[in-house]
This record gives sequence, structure tokens and C-alpha cells, in this order.
Amino acid sequence: MSNSLFKFPMMICSTVVMFLNFACGAQMYQASLEEDHDKTKVPDYAKNPDSQYYGVHATEGWHNLPIPFKTGFALTADQKDGLNECIGMWESAVGKKLFKYLGPDDKTGDSFDDLYSSLSDTTNGHYLDTDWDKTGKSNMVLATTIWDTSSRNVDQIFTADIRFNTQHYIIGDSFSLLPSANDPREVVDMTTLCLHELGHMLGLTHVSKNYDRLSIMNPTIYIGEGLANRNLSCGDIKRIQQIYGCAGEACDQEATCAKFEQPSASDDDDYEADPASE
Ligand SMILES: [Zn+2]
Repeated sequence: MSNSLFKFPMMICSTVVMFLNFACGAQMYQASLEEDHDKTKVPDYAKNPDSQYYGVHATEGWHNLPIPFKTGFALTADQKDGLNECIGMWESAVGKKLFKYLGPDDKTGDSFDDLYSSLSDTTNGHYLDTDWDKTGKSNMVLATTIWDTSSRNVDQIFTADIRFNTQHYIIGDSFSLLPSANDPREVVDMTTLCLHELGHMLGLTHVSKNYDRLSIMNPTIYIGEGLANRNLSCGDIKRIQQIYGCAGEACDQEATCAKFEQPSASDDDDYEADPASE
């Protein structure tokens, strides 16, 4: 009994470390990202692994680059650093400037009456919601990306916001955050989370682990202190280039993949770390 109890955490550490920058020993669990966007806005082909547009919800993305955006005034320096890192990674993946920072916004997620009302202004914003329940989303949802497509062209995005659930989660650098002992909220790595959410904002949707197990657009992530996945898969790079094309060195897809994708584990490695298989 004691032997099997010992083996389980060791196995998790050895398999997860293949995919994540990772510090063992911290509390951790997988969180679902299934409900972090409006699935009714995702066309059927984007959900069909046989389609050439699998994983792409807006095939034309944003027409006018770079995308102007603001950050709600409540974002911490840590959160802004994470956001900048995500932006830099997606921009390197295509070799183009995708985003343009317009400065802080005088709003937070709490300034809006509900989830979708933040779309009605002209600002593309990143906002913290300390009253997450108001969004109508489950408290298990870490963040959500909302967007509108052009009325003339549903393949084109023209406005978007990202709302972060800081009522139920501490979002920041998971390697350095030190939550107070009586804070019940779990730590979520900002860079990991915003890489995924910016993927939605740019026009990507979820891809299954069976299809691309290293994709940042998998609908689950590990959360907890010292846990992060700050990588893009080759599939992510191909899909984002499918929308925005590429420029310069990024057009060498093989080299760009090598830059962002962590070495893959063998097929025998069990990402789910199922103790029954051991
Ligand atoms: Zn998602």
C-alpha cells in the first residue's frame, strides 16, 4: 500500500515534467477550459478534426493588424508581464506585430453589467472580474474570451475582450506567487492562461489532446503553484499561420516549431497519469 501511494505522485512528476515547467510538491490539479468561450460562435468545421480548419474558429482572424488593446487598471504588474510574454510568443509564431497597447483602461470587469456588455464599447480589453458570478459562468471557469465577428463576414473578428476570474483564482506568475495561508483561491499561471485565451482572441478554438497533445489550445490545463505550460505546439504555429500567414524567420516553420514546442514524450507516456495503468 505505501509503495503504491509513493509511486503515484512520482509518476505524475515524471510524466508531467515532460510537458510543463514544473515544480513538484505543490498542490495541483487539472482545470477544464471547456467553457471559456462561446461555443455557439464556433463553426462546425472548426470542431471537425477532418477539416482543414480544425481548431480555427475565424479563418480570416482580424483584418486590421495590429489589434489595439487596453488593460483594465486593476491588472497587477505580474499579470501584465504574463500578458506581454503571451503577446510576444504569438507574434514570434507569425513574425508579425499582432497587438498594439493603447494603455490602461479605467474599467475592470466589475464595471460591466454582465459578461457580454464589455463588447459594446470600442475597446479590446483585458479585465479582472472580482464579481465573477455576475458573468453567469461557472466558478470553475478561469477566464473567458468573448468576441464578435463582422456582420458581413463571420470569418472576421472585429472586437474582443478577455475576462479573468480573480474572484476564485489568484492569477499571476505561478513560480513566484505567494498566496496568503488563509486565501482559498488556487494559483493559475497568467502566461499559460493568456496564451490560451489570446489564441481564442486571434481566431483559434480548442483542439483535443488526442489530435495535438502539446497544443496550448487543449481544453484543460494544470493549475497550482509552480505549474505552467508556456509553450506553443507545432500545430498551434501551423494554425495561427493559416490565419495570419508569416513573415521573416517565422516562415521557417520547422525552426519556429523547434523554438516553441517542448520535446514530446513517447507515446507510452500517460499524460493523464492514470494510477491504474501503473
Ligand atoms: Zn479555451
